[in-house]
Amino acid sequence: MTQPRSTRVFALVTILAAIYFIAAKFGLSLASVHASATTVWPPAGIALAALLLLGYRVWPGIFAGAFFANITTAGSVWTSFGIAAGNTLEGLLGTYLVNRFCSGLNAFERAQNVFKFTLFAAMLSTTVSATFGVTSLGLGGYADWSDYGAIWLTWWLGNVAGDLVVAPLLILWSANPRIRWDRWKMLEAGLLLLFVFVVGHVIFGWSPRVYNRLPFPYIPILVWTAFRFGQRETATASFLMAGIAIWGVLQGVGPFVMETDNESLLLLGAFMCTVTVTAMTLAAGVSERRRIEQKFELVVESAPSAMIMVNHEGRIVLVNKQTERLFGYARGELLGRSIDILVPRRYREQHSQHRGAFSRQPSVRPMGAGRDLYGVRKDGSEVPVEIGLNPVQTEEGLSVLASVVDITERKRADDQLRRHAADLESFSYSLAHDLRSPVLSISGLSRLAMKDYAERLDPTGRDYLRRIAGHARQMDELIRDLLTYSRLSGYTLKPQRISLKAVLTDLLRQLTEEIRRSGAQIDIQEPLPELLADRTVVAQILSNLLSNAMKFVEPGATPHVRVWVEDNGQFFRLWVEDNGIGIAPEHQEKIFQTFERLHNPESYPGTGIGLAIVAKGVERLGGRKGVESELGRGSRFWIELPRQSSASGPLPGISSRG
Ligand code: ADP
Repeated sequence: MTQPRSTRVFALVTILAAIYFIAAKFGLSLASVHASATTVWPPAGIALAALLLLGYRVWPGIFAGAFFANITTAGSVWTSFGIAAGNTLEGLLGTYLVNRFCSGLNAFERAQNVFKFTLFAAMLSTTVSATFGVTSLGLGGYADWSDYGAIWLTWWLGNVAGDLVVAPLLILWSANPRIRWDRWKMLEAGLLLLFVFVVGHVIFGWSPRVYNRLPFPYIPILVWTAFRFGQRETATASFLMAGIAIWGVLQGVGPFVMETDNESLLLLGAFMCTVTVTAMTLAAGVSERRRIEQKFELVVESAPSAMIMVNHEGRIVLVNKQTERLFGYARGELLGRSIDILVPRRYREQHSQHRGAFSRQPSVRPMGAGRDLYGVRKDGSEVPVEIGLNPVQTEEGLSVLASVVDITERKRADDQLRRHAADLESFSYSLAHDLRSPVLSISGLSRLAMKDYAERLDPTGRDYLRRIAGHARQMDELIRDLLTYSRLSGYTLKPQRISLKAVLTDLLRQLTEEIRRSGAQIDIQEPLPELLADRTVVAQILSNLLSNAMKFVEPGATPHVRVWVEDNGQFFRLWVEDNGIGIAPEHQEKIFQTFERLHNPESYPGTGIGLAIVAKGVERLGGRKGVESELGRGSRFWIELPRQSSASGPLPGISSRG
C-alpha cells in the first residue's frame, strides 16, 4: 500500500531531522573555539545532499535538527533559532546554486562542475550560516564581538569541509548504489582500503616520528582511486581519510597537531578540502574521458558500415563488428595487422602510395575517386566497396578512420541500369536508322511528283504534296538529330590536339547559308586556345549552340552572336552570347533534355534535340555546361572543357558507329 504523499514527506523530514541532529551533536562535540562553532561540520553536507536528492520540501528537517542540536548545547531559543535559520538557508541557497550552475546531482560528472560546486556550494552558500550563526551568538550575548572573525572562520571552514567531504559521498552513492566489480576489481578495492588505513595509521598512529609530519602519502592514494575507480570511490576514500585524520588530531598525533585543537582542525580542514577538490576534479576528468571513449566506441560499433582505424604505420588499431561481418575475420585477427591484409594483392603497392599521399594532404573525402575499389575477404574472395576516409590526429601521429560499405548490390543494379540504357539507345539508333530510308524516299518521291505532275493537280492537290514534302524534311531532320544523339553514347572518342579557331572557322563555313538567311553578325573573339579533345564532338556542340543563337531572336531582329573563351586553369570556358529572346530561369535546366522545346514549331522550327546533343557531348568530354539568361535579354550559353579531355569510354554494350 502506498503512503499518502504528505505522510511520506513528514517521515522523510523526521528522519532527516534525526540524522542532522546526531551529526550536529557529533560536530559540536569537537567544538573548541566556541561551544557552537566547530571546524568539523558534517551536517552542512547532509543538508545539501538531502535537499538535492529529496527536494526543497524537506527543509524543515534541517531546521528542526539544527535547532534542537543547538538548544541542547549552548545559547537561548533565539540564538538557536538564528543558527538553525542560517543552516537551513545555507542548504537552500547551496542547492539552488548547484541546480542552477552545476547540473544538480550530476555536479561531479564533469571537472568544470566540480570547480563550480566548490565555489558556489562549498565556499559561497556557507557564508550564510557562518554569518547568521555568529551574529546570532553575538546578539544573544553568547560570543564576544572581538572574537567574531575567529569564530566566523571556524564556522565557515567547518561547513566548507562538510559540503566537500560529506555531500559528494551521499549524492554519488545515492545516485549509484550498485557495485559491479569483478574479482580483480574487488581485490584492488580491498587493497586500496587497506592502504587508506595503513597510511592513516602511519601518519596518525605513530607518534612522534618524522613521517607523521607528512600528510602527503594521502595524495597518491586519492589519485589511484580517481584513476582506477571513479568519483564515488574517490569521495569515499576522502571521507575515510578525513575521519582518520580527525581521530588522529583528537589523539594529539599527526601532522596537523598545532597549539590548540581548533587550530589543528582548521589546518586539517583546509588540507582535506584542497585534496578532496583536487581528487574529485581528477576523478571527474578521468570519467569524462572514459565516457567520451565509450561514446566513441558505441558510435563506431553501431555504425551501419564497417569502420576501420589505421594508424600512421598502416596498422589496424580499431574495427567494429560490421568489419568482422564484411571481411570474415575475427577482431583479434585484424588488430595490429597491416591494412594490406584487406587490400587485394594487385592493389597493395598502389595503395601504400596513396596512403602516403593522403597523409601528406589529409582531408575528409571518399577514397579512390573514379576508380573501382575492392576489398579482399579472409576466404580470398573480393568484394566491391566504397570507402570514406577521415583523418584523425592522435598523439602517435595521423590515423585514418575509414568507413567501408559493401556495394555489391549497388554495382549489380548500376550495371543492369547501364545495360538497359545502352539497349534502349541501341534500339533508338536502329529505329532511326531504319526509318531514315523510307522518309528519304517519301521526300524524294514528293519532290518528283511536284516536278512532273504539278500541272495535272488542282491547287489543293499541290498544297497536299508541298506539305508532304515539308513534313518529310522535318522528319529527316529529326531522325538525323536522333542518330547524332544516339551515336554520341557509343562513339569512341579520338582525342587530338585541335585549334578552336580552326574548328570555328570550319563551322562558319558550313553555316554560311544560315548566316546569310538570318543576316547574323558573328563576332569570334581571340585568343582561342588549343585543346586535346575529340574534334567531331566539339564541332557538334558548337554547331548547335551557334544555330540556336542565330535562330532564337525576335522576328525581324538581326542576331548578334559573340563567342569568346576564358582560361580557368585546368578548364577552358567557352561562351556563346546572343541578343535573342532569352530563357526564363525555370526552363534553363530542362532545355538540355531531349525534346524539351519552349516554342511552337511555326515560329521557331527545330527538333528539341540540339541542346541534348550539347549536354551529352560535354559529358563525354568530361566537361560541364550551363546558361545564363533572362527573358527578352539574350542568352549566354557556356561549356567548360578540360585542357586535356579525359574522355569517358563508350558505354558497355554499345559499339562505335562513328
Ligand atoms: P531546338 O533548337 O531544336 O528547338 P534545342 O534542344 O536546341 O532544340 O533547344 C531546346 C529549346 O531551348 C529550344 O526549343 C528553345 O526554346 C530553347 N533555346 C535554345 N537555345 C536558345 C537560345 N539561344 N535562346 C533562347 N532559347 C533557346
